[in-house]
Amino acid sequence: MNIAIVGLGLMGRAMAQRLAELGFTVRGYNRSPLPETWLSRATAQAPTAISVAPSLMQAVTPAHIVWVMLADFAACEAVFLAPEHQSLWRNRLVINGSTISPDQSRALAQSIHALGGRYLEAPVLGSTPQAQTGTLQILLGGASADIVQAEMVLGALGTPTHFGDVGQGAAVKLAMNQLIGSLTAAFSLSLGLVQREGVAVGQFMETLRASALYAPTFDKKLEKMQARDFAHANFPLKHLLKDLRLFAAAAEHRHINTQIVHALTDTLAHACQEGAGDADYSALYAALVPPAAP
Ligand code: NAP
Repeated sequence: MNIAIVGLGLMGRAMAQRLAELGFTVRGYNRSPLPETWLSRATAQAPTAISVAPSLMQAVTPAHIVWVMLADFAACEAVFLAPEHQSLWRNRLVINGSTISPDQSRALAQSIHALGGRYLEAPVLGSTPQAQTGTLQILLGGASADIVQAEMVLGALGTPTHFGDVGQGAAVKLAMNQLIGSLTAAFSLSLGLVQREGVAVGQFMETLRASALYAPTFDKKLEKMQARDFAHANFPLKHLLKDLRLFAAAAEHRHINTQIVHALTDTLAHACQEGAGDADYSALYAALVPPAAP
């Protein structure tokens, strides 16, 4: 099967690699030049080579399915709706894995349908390691017939769950990412206090693990927080900020009180201004628990 991957950022690259390893013919497209280290490896390794097309049209034209993995709604609009790209979607199935809001996804679906194409919403849970091993959770919104057509690709990348119409997969994705932000903030604050009070972190963690309050993400990020080393991000802080802003807007639209989420987005926005946008999202700890005063 011939797949186009539009957006070869962290996730798009990992997905392209996974699909090529499983025997799909993968042609990628990215707006900007890609890192030479990745490019030379990914395009040279027969039989799993990925070809990178110089234009969107050249990536999409031979494809049965177009998987889109772009940063945000503005990027999706720029790619889908540019006048020179509008004829590309006719009779094609576009699967959008980008994290956007339910309303934004519904608007894109409408535009793609108006251009004669089909649109499946497929935001994912998990990061680059899960994309590389085909263990993503794929949160689908759209028509069952499109899911049947995409079955092989979805199965290659992870476990799909069909939630309902376009917008409902996006809603679940934002709900989950709100938990990433809130759980990371909650854990950071509690860890910060016990550290500042001189309590042994190991003892604190044993108590936490034995309680109903434990979440596995705490242990996943503990080492980075203790070392204050947030390099090598799979999911950068700037994308968590984008997702929490999307959550706040979607939740306000549904008359949910989002004061707590706004406190979190303010903290994340400040951390981005201070240069932590590309750091791992667990850098939220450093924003909440700055290094102790001497
Ligand atoms: P990323 O590394 O920042 O890549 C973003 C991609 O979007 C790049 O290919 C970038 O192209 C492209 N892009 C941005 N603005 C554009 C524009 N105006 N026109 C055309 N292309 C544009 O992001 P990522 O981590 O791969 O994430 C992609 C999406 O998946 C995001 O919505 C993110 O929230 C979501 N997601 C990420 C993770 C994760 O762990 N990283 C997990 C689940 C979901 P350039 O290279 O030219 O900038």
